[in-house]
Amino acid sequence: MSDVPSRTELSVLGEFGLIDRLAARVELTQKSTIKGIGDDAAVIDPEGLHQVVTSDMLVEGVHFDLSYMPLKHLGYKAIVVNLSDVYAMNATPRQVLVSMALSNRFSVEAVEELYEGMLLACRNYGVDLVGGDTCSSASGSILSVTAIGSAPKEQLVFRDGGQEHDLLVVTGDLGGAYMGLQVLEREKAVFQETGAQPDLAGHDYILERQLKPECRKDIPELLRKLDVRPTSMIDISDGLASEVIHLCKQSGTGALIYDDKLPIDPATYQCARDFDLDPTTVALSGGEDYELLFTVRLEDHDKIKGNPSLSVIGHLTDAREGMHLVDKQGGLHPLTAQGWDAFLKRGADGPGSLSTA
Ligand code: ADP
Ligand code: MG
Repeated sequence: MSDVPSRTELSVLGEFGLIDRLAARVELTQKSTIKGIGDDAAVIDPEGLHQVVTSDMLVEGVHFDLSYMPLKHLGYKAIVVNLSDVYAMNATPRQVLVSMALSNRFSVEAVEELYEGMLLACRNYGVDLVGGDTCSSASGSILSVTAIGSAPKEQLVFRDGGQEHDLLVVTGDLGGAYMGLQVLEREKAVFQETGAQPDLAGHDYILERQLKPECRKDIPELLRKLDVRPTSMIDISDGLASEVIHLCKQSGTGALIYDDKLPIDPATYQCARDFDLDPTTVALSGGEDYELLFTVRLEDHDKIKGNPSLSVIGHLTDAREGMHLVDKQGGLHPLTAQGWDAFLKRGADGPGSLSTA
């Protein structure tokens, strides 16, 4: 046997042959899936529930870099980022559709590897892959995923339901995915300059946060168990600061969040320090954490207090008070979509633009 992986050009199978090959590996598990891949359209039974529909597009060179993103991970991430939006509505994802424009860099084997990651995510989150579209691309590749979920009408949570005095809560910890990206980009640059093999030792947690993110399937369930109904919710894809701003604008409120309450993993903290970045700024602006940010009524504080998955980071205020970060000395800093004002000062001379585009 040769060590060189086999490469079958997409043109050998053609579009329909490729779809057949992929469809053969798809299993359907949801009761609500009436018809999956193979007809002109999929058929879904809403089962008397409200349906939630969302799409996300991943563009080569903008959202992913095939030089350090294994295809299986890319497939996994493409599904997870969509499901995250469904959980952020407090709904359960049930189906996904996958559309791809593939450059001729992709072989049949590469597409199969991509699908392996997507189907693994589908299995882990219990959703059915029910359709999509496939075409070629003259330049980079594009991957577009649509997720469909459902929930009883009264269970849905929107961005606009927050009220003054509600507590702001985040799940998990923040900034890890961004620091994982910094390590990958640094090692890529070193490799391009010197040919040295990447040194990724000791960075498992943040690399996993970047390369194999998970979304918070457990949180809608946990909140039901704790008998807490969030008043508003959003997922953290662009960075906490940006999401707090979205939530406040939609809810018509202001917010105070406290620097010393932001959940930052020690590995993320140390890595930010090593890159001469401010860990708070990384947590506020890093992006791609796929945690949830939500608000609860003040009287629900006892129900969530001390839960290891949840951190109360601040509260909503009257809109006229604006949106601020309170630093460890009690100083107020206006939140910006990029983080806070210290970042802007740093950005002028400092390392690392936090653009996640
Ligand atoms: P049409 O020409 O009517 O758009 P297609 O030949 O594109 O039909 O698709 C045939 C079937 O294969 C449909 O059920 C479609 O949803 C499914 N399909 C096409 N591309 C993909 C894909 N990348 N992943 C999953 N299903 C796909
Ligand atoms: Mg089509």
